Amino acid sequence: MEKLVITVALTGNVPTQQMNPHLPVTAEEIAADVARCRDAGASLFHVHARDAAQKPTLEIEAYKANVRAIKAAAPEVILQLSTGARAGKEWEARAQPVRLLPEMGSFTTGSNNLPGIVYENSPPFIEFLARVYQETGVKPEIEVFETGMIANALFLQKKGYLQPPLHFDFVLGAPGAMPGTVKNLQFLSESIPAGATWSVAGIGKAEMPLSAAAIAMGGHVRVGLEDNLFLPDGSPASNPLLVEKIVRIAREIGREIASPEEARRVLALDPAHKDRILSMIGA
Ligand code: ZN
Repeated sequence: MEKLVITVALTGNVPTQQMNPHLPVTAEEIAADVARCRDAGASLFHVHARDAAQKPTLEIEAYKANVRAIKAAAPEVILQLSTGARAGKEWEARAQPVRLLPEMGSFTTGSNNLPGIVYENSPPFIEFLARVYQETGVKPEIEVFETGMIANALFLQKKGYLQPPLHFDFVLGAPGAMPGTVKNLQFLSESIPAGATWSVAGIGKAEMPLSAAAIAMGGHVRVGLEDNLFLPDGSPASNPLLVEKIVRIAREIGREIASPEEARRVLALDPAHKDRILSMIGA
């Protein structure tokens, strides 16, 4: 089996520090959490931005501030910037984080319900964002909330917008979308092309069981407060505690942990793209 790539979804758009005091919100808090999670064994970081009132924002200066702080604290980690819709629906605003040339960006290739909203990614928007990924050479992580999103990604690959090998993240257990069961994880992991890589992001109580399943199946794992605020015993989680738990489970069953450099190889990232973002953020 490949070494295990551990992704941390640090902040997201929904949680607040009232819901969990360990949530990193400011650039400084996010960078400090990245360094702690890296020390614990994480290699890839899924990054959102918040404004001064903790509200989600697509303001590009907020993304730049987060990237600058992370690059200062943990220059070797892989950054994946979010293109999610809760912070704004305007197409170009959602594409801006990709135009900063991070090594990776998130890309949800379809629509589904989430608590309180339709998570809308229309066919024209998906094609627009796929073109941005093609133009920039940034590697998308295909966020799969429903089975059809795999087919949509393969269609974009067939049209030449996305280059294989694709990397999928199965987001399971979000209220309104595909339930967080091992059966669903197995089905999705068998529905992607040979050579593609995958991770699982279990939402809420599904996080740890699905992570354990993915570790045993040869997939990769995403954890973090964006997806789940609690440890299995009900106490407040923190990003480093979640990573430590994953590392323990993996070691117990003999799966080794990937360093950031090893994760780049597993995910087939272009080594020449490692620090393109530095010139974009004025670092
Ligand atoms: Zn996210």
